[in-house]
Amino acid sequence: MSKPDSTCDVYRSAIDRVLSDVRCELGAGAVLVIDSEDAHLPPEVLAHDPWLLSEITSPGRSPTIYVGVPDEGWTGVGRAEWPSLEDATVAIADAVQEVLVESRAHWAVAFPACPAHPGTPLWPKMHDGTAVWTCVDGAAIAIPIGSLGAEARTS
Ligand SMILES: [Zn+2]
Repeated sequence: MSKPDSTCDVYRSAIDRVLSDVRCELGAGAVLVIDSEDAHLPPEVLAHDPWLLSEITSPGRSPTIYVGVPDEGWTGVGRAEWPSLEDATVAIADAVQEVLVESRAHWAVAFPACPAHPGTPLWPKMHDGTAVWTCVDGAAIAIPIGSLGAEARTS
């Protein structure tokens, strides 16, 4: 396994893992993630969210990653210096869950669904040094974040 060599790469890998799980359960395009330091904004985001645009383009902006549901609200994830990939993955997963649960498009959707408790979500957490989705009942269920597609294929 190759080790990401910059803070930016760490967050990029963390975002990929979380979005892989979102795509698996909710389909492509359910969540947008914007790295404000790169600000590779899709034109539709610029058109629909002047507040976000001003946040990202203002001088001295804080390094923050924005997570949002298309045409809905955004939440920011504070960016730590030299985070571990696992810590960054938990932070991104937490923000993605927050925007999803508060969105009109995915209101009250349990993401990701707990295999043991239908209708309730799993929560992002560190478990033995790995970012996992866990059940509220404890660590009996601990699915590494980014592996939901693999779980589905093997079960
Ligand atoms: Zn559960």
